[in-house]
Amino acid sequence: MKDSNFLKENNARHFWHPMTSPEDSTTTPPKIITGAQGVSIQDIDGNEVVDAVGGLWNVNLGYSCQPVKDAIAAQLEQLPYYSTFRGTSNDAAIELSYELADFFAPDGLSRAFFTSGGSDSVETALRLARQYHKLRGESGRVKFLSLKKGYHGTHIGGASVNGNANFRNAYEPLLPGCHHIPAPYTYRNPFNETDPETLANLCIAALEDEINFQGANTIAAMIMEPILGAGGVIVPHESFAPQVAEICERNGILLITDEVITAYGRTGAWSGARLWGIKPDMMCTAKAITNGFFPFGVVMMGDKMIEAFENNPAAKIGHGYTYSGHPVGAAAALACLKETKRLNVIENAAARGTQMYDGCLALMDKHEIVGDVRGGKGLMTAIELVSDRATKKPIDGASAALIQETAYNAGAMVRVSGPNIIMSPPLVVTDADVNTILSALDAGLSTVK
Ligand code: PLP
Repeated sequence: MKDSNFLKENNARHFWHPMTSPEDSTTTPPKIITGAQGVSIQDIDGNEVVDAVGGLWNVNLGYSCQPVKDAIAAQLEQLPYYSTFRGTSNDAAIELSYELADFFAPDGLSRAFFTSGGSDSVETALRLARQYHKLRGESGRVKFLSLKKGYHGTHIGGASVNGNANFRNAYEPLLPGCHHIPAPYTYRNPFNETDPETLANLCIAALEDEINFQGANTIAAMIMEPILGAGGVIVPHESFAPQVAEICERNGILLITDEVITAYGRTGAWSGARLWGIKPDMMCTAKAITNGFFPFGVVMMGDKMIEAFENNPAAKIGHGYTYSGHPVGAAAALACLKETKRLNVIENAAARGTQMYDGCLALMDKHEIVGDVRGGKGLMTAIELVSDRATKKPIDGASAALIQETAYNAGAMVRVSGPNIIMSPPLVVTDADVNTILSALDAGLSTVK
């Protein structure tokens, strides 16, 4: 490895980071991570901290998950790559499609379209949604609905259905025909409604209103995260997703759940769809499918999609990626799925998630700058920071960065996203790890009055 000075200097000189401004490389230079074991990461300066970010919501099984590493190494020896475009397939991807069909059977999903990550999965679902309607003779159904505050990756389609201006403005014009519904976000919403169930009903009324306004026969699909992750862990009332599903069904609109974060146990259920008891027509997944060890994703298909495509045997899927069904990714995913089930990670995610949520609520009692705490469904928790509780004025970026830095020095990597601090640690964290994260957060929050 090159020495610390070389890495720091050249990171600033040659490396453009995602979701980062050029000034960040000098004002808040990145931690250069050089190692990781269990649920902890090490940096080039010799610090070791608990990773409360879980990589980026993806290292569900921790960094030492040997079966996944072994599967990757073995697959590199057996078949390091081959395409799955027309005319070829591979054993690892076939076995994975079989296992995924079993894993997602309770969600009504049984065909796999492989991708190289979350944004690819979203783009796949949006494109296939349009093709679905064309195959059925409804070529006027081209529009998409989604939630404000939702995050669906950064490709043009995904950015168009994204509900956060930060990921949109610099890239406009985006796709026409994408319409955004208010999110069931109790802390801030246009209705000034704080009761979760009433707010869910108001958002549902807005959804119905938008469908009537656009005309149902112009809408291809609604895409939605079962719990909004990057937007700040917005957990809808339990009545919300079933109502969305019913409205989509009644109006011939496909329902796509974007489960790039929520699938594979993060919410304390095996999928977000299962958490809310809905059956989507397509489900986008990625991230934890390979524990973050290989870029990979999958869109799972339900009966409507399967019938439309398989009843039109000549219909060509004119979509796919060089790395769709990559054998190394598929081998990693197979090992990951096996380990995820063996460890029954949903139990620990639910128990440790409650501990994290309760701990954050206690921090809200202690620190005036904590305006809201969201979570309570598995290991997805957010603290929203404000400089004034009465006006809910969001905290400034420098204070949020100071909190993050202090928490790091106190033993935990937490993630600042706008005014939110988000915790999404590996699903294998212990009681003691969660306490380390909470006390590091406490130290961080204590630095800002
Ligand atoms: N969809 C959701 C819900 C996500 O959270 C993300 C990433 O965080 C994406 C899509 C995009 O995934 P990727 O960054 O792998 O392209």
